[in-house]
Amino acid sequence: LSFNSFPNGFESINLGGKIPLGLKRKGLRIVVTGGAGFVGSHLVDRLMARGDSVIVVDNFFTGNKDNVQHHFGNPRFELIRHDVVEPLLLEVDQIYHLACPASPTNVVGTLNMLGLAKRVGARFLLTSTSEVYGDPLQHPQVETYWGNVNPIGVRSCYDEGKRTAETLTMDYHRGAGVEVRIARIFNTYGPRMCIDDGRVVSNFVAQALRKEPLTVYGDGKQTRSFQFVSDLVEGLMRLMEGEHVGPFNLGNPGEFTMLELAQVVQETIDPNAKIEFRPNTEDDPHKRKPDITKAKELLGWKPKVSLRKGLPMMVSDFRQRIFGDQKNPGA
Ligand code: NAD
Ligand code: UDP
Ligand code: UDP
Repeated sequence: LSFNSFPNGFESINLGGKIPLGLKRKGLRIVVTGGAGFVGSHLVDRLMARGDSVIVVDNFFTGNKDNVQHHFGNPRFELIRHDVVEPLLLEVDQIYHLACPASPTNVVGTLNMLGLAKRVGARFLLTSTSEVYGDPLQHPQVETYWGNVNPIGVRSCYDEGKRTAETLTMDYHRGAGVEVRIARIFNTYGPRMCIDDGRVVSNFVAQALRKEPLTVYGDGKQTRSFQFVSDLVEGLMRLMEGEHVGPFNLGNPGEFTMLELAQVVQETIDPNAKIEFRPNTEDDPHKRKPDITKAKELLGWKPKVSLRKGLPMMVSDFRQRIFGDQKNPGA
């Protein structure tokens, strides 16, 4: 494993020069909804690098053109400003469906992309979430666990939206024979993550860089398991190319309390960073950690980048986006 610099300025993982997937199947036409977002843009980089034609469909609700700008001018790349709530007519082989604001439009967008997959015979991959397990009563979470979700809580819109999206995906699979794949993604971080959307890793990193106190919600003893984005993208591609429907947990089993995470951020950025306690949000899951036995066995996948290795790569990207980087003027 080595670290390289991308032309647009941040570091990424080099998997030793190998492109593990897709060598045998060149020239696929692939839609990535939400491809201008954090995870989507990294996925697009990998698909472009292996020679596929990629259509990004994004309404820039949370995503950003800057994330995919380095592909502009490449004849294999297209960017369409479009809300997936509206029907969409395309001819493609595969659909990676990542577009998702935390709202019921999640369901309508998924329905449309499944309709598209059915019409053109494309393979459809849903990026679901560990939130389908709610505040889990089973630990670590295995794919067979049905979850513990409050249907009327403040986070239900997202959780239930994804649960419904999984249901629709399986219904189209069983009822209309659509080839589908379901990934349940656990907390993911890395370069290009939204700076201000309130997630814990981006909050702590931005706060430490700006010399503000790290805001720990509640007692900070709740846990999450943090996965670096390149590991996730590798898992998504293996899932799409493989023979198994899923659902598959894609996450890094390394589990941290929020206080431990704050400590790692202090070690990485600023040992003197202060910690400030704030009231926690309602229905916050107490713990979360993926059981990834199924992905290991059936996809031959496991994460490679630990939090201590991955965090510095995110920090250099955040540093550059927050302060600008004089040493890297073209970025
Ligand atoms: P993101 O917000 O960076 O990316 C989502 C993209 O979808 C954005 O570019 C946004 O503009 C676009 N989008 C939103 N609504 C749209 C619509 N109606 N039509 C077209 N485009 C739309 O988020 P991300 O972290 O990259 O997440 C990607 C996917 O992975 C999402 O489905 C998310 O639910 C799932 N996921 C992410 C995590 C994580 O930790 N990042 C964890 C679990 C699941
Ligand atoms: N759809 C789309 N693109 C297509 C095919 C369908 O956006 O190429 C949308 C369509 O508008 C509908 C949804 O996907 O809202 C579900 O389509 P499906 O054909 O399964 O359902 P139906 O239209 O028969 O209710
Ligand atoms: N959190 C925190 N400080 C913050 C933001 C979040 O302590 O500034 C906590 C939050 O209460 C939760 C955990 O970090 O327990 C993860 O929150 P996030 O929103 O990143 O992810 P999710 O809850 O969706 O897993």
